[in-house]
Amino acid sequence: MSIVPRRRFIALGGAGLGAAALSAYTFTHAAEHPDLQARLGVPVGPANGSPTPEPTPTPPPLRPRARELITLLKDTPWAADGVEIHSGRPGPRIMVLGGVHGNEPGGWLAAEAIADWQVERGSLLVLPRANGRAVAVMERTLPEFGDLNRMYPGNTNGLPMARMAAAIVEAGRAFQPELLFDLHESWVFYAERGSAGGTAFIGQTLSIGGGATEATVDRMAHVVRSVNAAISPREEFYMRGAVTPRPGVQVVPSNTPPPGTTPSPTITPPPNGVTFGGTSSLSLGQWIRGCVPILIEMGQQNQADSRRAALHQMLVRTTLDQSGML
Ligand SMILES: [Zn+2]
Repeated sequence: MSIVPRRRFIALGGAGLGAAALSAYTFTHAAEHPDLQARLGVPVGPANGSPTPEPTPTPPPLRPRARELITLLKDTPWAADGVEIHSGRPGPRIMVLGGVHGNEPGGWLAAEAIADWQVERGSLLVLPRANGRAVAVMERTLPEFGDLNRMYPGNTNGLPMARMAAAIVEAGRAFQPELLFDLHESWVFYAERGSAGGTAFIGQTLSIGGGATEATVDRMAHVVRSVNAAISPREEFYMRGAVTPRPGVQVVPSNTPPPGTTPSPTITPPPNGVTFGGTSSLSLGQWIRGCVPILIEMGQQNQADSRRAALHQMLVRTTLDQSGML
């Protein structure tokens, strides 16, 4: 249970991503987050009907130690390359998405680095540039593509990113990850949101999606505690989602009241601890059985892209480390 030394992280300096490009970031993350969806009147729930009941899946067979290149939506203009990294030994399976939004480079730079990692137990599936065309132009998405993080479980006949959502669900069902990291960026740090804030500004937060057990919340709280102990106070992460407070980890209330009002002293957990995040990746537990999605939002304001990518990697690597995969 060691904290990963920073020197083990891949340096990402000099990426040449200018401030002008970063300023193209838009504050439209609201619907990724179920509490905001409710507040903003965005429909919450699956867009394409109820999930098909599935029998309990059998674990995929143990794969030999190898790096297997994969391509989602092969032979289309929006094809996305990824890699399955198999240790050859039993262990956890974890999936990582980057580049769901093209103007959030900390996330896709991190995922590209993670795609070069090796694991000693279990398997890792990394899709660094889920919306590669958007990454190429540093835009959230292309208008004709749709927003991938609004489209789960996807539609094989829909917009390009609806097709990608369906391909990600299909890949997840085959890979059967117990955790899926979706690496995003916000603008303002949650702790610095001030009077202009509220939950719209959620940099440096880690959200746990629907279906997480208390044990998984404890597991991620341990990751957050370990990472927070190794970074500066400004960089520290908060937890969001269906999370009751954990010692040593600050939790974003599920319905943060407007500044100046009295906050609710308690957080009411959803029935059975199960809630789903509509059509964002936080809903993926509905479609990929046994998978708990983890959505990380890194603050872009006054934080270099290289550092943001390093912090994303730190959260994922610490999870792998504490899961015995390294
Ligand atoms: Zn995003």
